Amino acid sequence: MSEPAGTAAAIVAAAQRIRQHGDSAPQLARDPVNTPMINNWTEALGDADPRYPELAPPAMVQVWTMRGLHGRRPADDPLGAMTAVLDEAGYTSVVATDCDQSYARYLRPGERLSVRSRLTDVVGPKRTALGEGWFVTTVSTWSVGSGDAAEPVAEMMFRILKFRPPAPPEPPKPPAAPRAVLRPVVNRDTEFFWAGMAAGELRVWRCGECGLLRHPPGPMCPRCNATRPEYLIASGRGEVYSYVVHHHPPVPGRELPFVVALVALEEGVRVLGELRDTDPAGARVGLPVEIVFDRVDDQLTLPAWRPR
Ligand code: ZN
Repeated sequence: MSEPAGTAAAIVAAAQRIRQHGDSAPQLARDPVNTPMINNWTEALGDADPRYPELAPPAMVQVWTMRGLHGRRPADDPLGAMTAVLDEAGYTSVVATDCDQSYARYLRPGERLSVRSRLTDVVGPKRTALGEGWFVTTVSTWSVGSGDAAEPVAEMMFRILKFRPPAPPEPPKPPAAPRAVLRPVVNRDTEFFWAGMAAGELRVWRCGECGLLRHPPGPMCPRCNATRPEYLIASGRGEVYSYVVHHHPPVPGRELPFVVALVALEEGVRVLGELRDTDPAGARVGLPVEIVFDRVDDQLTLPAWRPR
């Protein structure tokens, strides 16, 4: 039975599988233990032990089986297999945490090593300072000779932490593109109407002298010529007095076709606006509607209508 990829259970199952393979096939060193390499090493480390280079420093053991610049990890390498599983599960970062080597004896130039490794432990998920991760432990054994004659000469326990790198900070969101609509011209005579829209009120111009209602607003009362306008707050209910279905041309911010309705308010004046929430076939004269405050942005709220 297989577990969903990437879950802790799937990782544990994969680790179990890889561990059961036991030791990888022996990987034979490219070159035998050799004097030039020993000299390079001891000079670089300032190790003047007189036994070198007739013998090789034991801590060099890993050097002899390095794969080189273009070397490839063998397919049965347990650390490679476990790394792939954890990479896949998002634990893509790595840090070495422990390395213990033990040596059976000194090596001599001319001896050719081979190395095998096995997975011993996969522990996790653990919360660490670096992030959530899994500790992966392998043991490598170096031998001289092959088959039954193979003589183990050194062993290394090597532990890494494969962890999930912290998520990069969210990039700042670009400001939302302003909605493209045809914007009304707001002037001294109409400012109260648009302020009302923004406040969620349908304000209707009313003459301060004779009480006449008019829409759209203007500076002067057409009946008594007074220039002292007030407004009333309309109920926002009315019915469709007339309408058009707009098929063409395209209008910024609108999907075609759309309906523009002239709505006769209960209060008596007529107000234009898009008729929403109904397809064009649903529009008809006399349709009872109510206002919708279509907030475009901080500066603009448009009147629109929907059936009620
Ligand atoms: Zn008037």
